[in-house]
Amino acid sequence: MFANTNIFTDKVTTNWFKACIALTVTKDGLSSFVESELQKIQTTVGRSCGNCSIEKLLPCPTNGICKKRKGNTCIFHHSQQPQNCKSCDQVKQNITSLHRFKGPSWRNTQAESWATHPWEIGKCFLPPDGYSGVSSVQESDFNGVISIMLNCTHFQTCLSSSCLSPPPPDKQCLLEKVRQIGRDIRHTSDCKVSDAHLQDYFQTLSTLLADPKCLLNDPSAKISKTKLGDLQNDRMSLSELGELLKEADRTLKNANEVGERVSEAAERKLAVCLEQLEASLQAGKKRIQSRIDDGKQRIEQAIQDGKQHIGVKIQNGDRCIESKIDNGKQHIEQTIQDGEKRIEAKIQDGENRIIQTNSEQAEQNYTRSVEG
Ligand SMILES: [Zn+2]
Ligand SMILES: [Zn+2]
Repeated sequence: MFANTNIFTDKVTTNWFKACIALTVTKDGLSSFVESELQKIQTTVGRSCGNCSIEKLLPCPTNGICKKRKGNTCIFHHSQQPQNCKSCDQVKQNITSLHRFKGPSWRNTQAESWATHPWEIGKCFLPPDGYSGVSSVQESDFNGVISIMLNCTHFQTCLSSSCLSPPPPDKQCLLEKVRQIGRDIRHTSDCKVSDAHLQDYFQTLSTLLADPKCLLNDPSAKISKTKLGDLQNDRMSLSELGELLKEADRTLKNANEVGERVSEAAERKLAVCLEQLEASLQAGKKRIQSRIDDGKQRIEQAIQDGKQHIGVKIQNGDRCIESKIDNGKQHIEQTIQDGEKRIEAKIQDGENRIIQTNSEQAEQNYTRSVEG
């Protein structure tokens, strides 16, 4: 059952709705690629000790992290004792040099887990705030995934040069364009997207998902690219659309929580989408259930008919067999009687012949004795 994606009467709102879903689909398609690249990055930056917290690895104050206020304790640094750890400092330095703008988001990351969870390294390349509670690439949102690819220069090695040239923050590079689509969708004031813009969005997102360097052969990216096509041409199933919509809604709420300026209009519109989709799903379920019920009744009826039909045939058969047996019996009796009659007739005949022979013999004997 395909969904009617045209939930709204006006085309431009439907376009916006499709764009929301497209972002979620794209993010899902990039997740496993980013995850496996983060494992390589973890190897590149080296092994941390696993005991140092980020708070202890950064001096107070650190530009962009905290300001030392006279007489007040720092909100970031609970302890003012910096820790000297050679291995962790090295990892920290390596992360910084991989950062395109040399400003890792230290507030997001748990340095104790750098050696065990590549995602904690990935978090250094996310926007500065709001991601500390996000525990995986999958859990992250579209903006987060694109930020890692933009901010970490490692991705220059696994994306073709067209994705990152001219180099960010130049708005003309493909990844910057992709990030801008996300912003436009989330920050909308009217939840409307023109046909031409939507076309352009699909084109840009598909180009990224089919990047020839690695993504072209990445299974998840391939699936997402197909899904984008389905979405664009209204071939997506209702249940799949429902799941994606829920994810889009969660992401938007989450973005709001981290202080991003998500438009209220966008939030309201997505809520309406969810309600309408839920209603369509319920209606669909009812239709399916009534078809199942109908089918069951028809099958039961057919079984009943079949049973009756078989019953009649058995009765007919019984009758037929009985009458054949009767016929057979009669036939056998007749044959026996005929046989008996024939045998009796033959015996009678024999007896007659013996009597005849005997009387002829007696006659001859008498004649011979008279003549003699
Ligand atoms: Zn350490
Ligand atoms: Zn501080």
